Amino acid sequence: MSTYPHVKFVTSAAEAHQLAPDIGREVAFAGRSNSGKSTAINAITQRSGLARVSRTPGRTQLINFFELFPERRLVDLPGYGFAKVPERVRLHWLALMQHYFNVRESLVGLVLIVDSRRGLGEQDVAMLEWVLARDREAHILLSKSDKINRSDGQRVLKETLAACADTAVSAQLFSALSKQGTLQARDVMDRWLGFERREAGSGRAGQA
Ligand code: GDP
Repeated sequence: MSTYPHVKFVTSAAEAHQLAPDIGREVAFAGRSNSGKSTAINAITQRSGLARVSRTPGRTQLINFFELFPERRLVDLPGYGFAKVPERVRLHWLALMQHYFNVRESLVGLVLIVDSRRGLGEQDVAMLEWVLARDREAHILLSKSDKINRSDGQRVLKETLAACADTAVSAQLFSALSKQGTLQARDVMDRWLGFERREAGSGRAGQA
């Protein structure tokens, strides 16, 4: 069963005026294309088909809203970092993201997916700056940690935390494949959304 048994797709926004109603609380997920964002969303919500793994062109520029509970949303922001994206598409993405981060009152935190083999990129840092500018928190998932050894994992975690020192940014290693860090990631999200675990380790959440 899903940790969020009532999770459902709400709407997609391709334009600023199509965002879901700005009420309650929401957590946004962002990351480069292929960072493992969709896989992470599916692992954290325990819903294999919720976010689409491996992109299709039509969906890359959409903000997808999912409801976990009434007035509690997970927001899948469009991936970035495609080498071959036309300038027009990139500028649209930029405008949509800036609008989202500027106006969204219900946004409580950003989960940033960063491939643990790549580390933080320029665009990742821009996402963090946008969310910190609004006094919101951010949490970095260093994804696909099953692909690196333990000491490289500790090194990239240390470097990432050092790069984010003195900010409201936390980080952890994460693997949807080995399940490393899924509970930790869920706990961060639940805390931001105001949920409390009913039973420790059971993977179920209740509204606080
Ligand atoms: P997105 O474009 O950021 O949404 O990335 P996807 O979730 O579609 O993942 C991109 C690729 O990375 C896919 O081939 C996934 O199967 C793979 N992937 C995602 N997460 C993991 C992981 O934890 N471990 C491994 N080994 N591969 C992963």
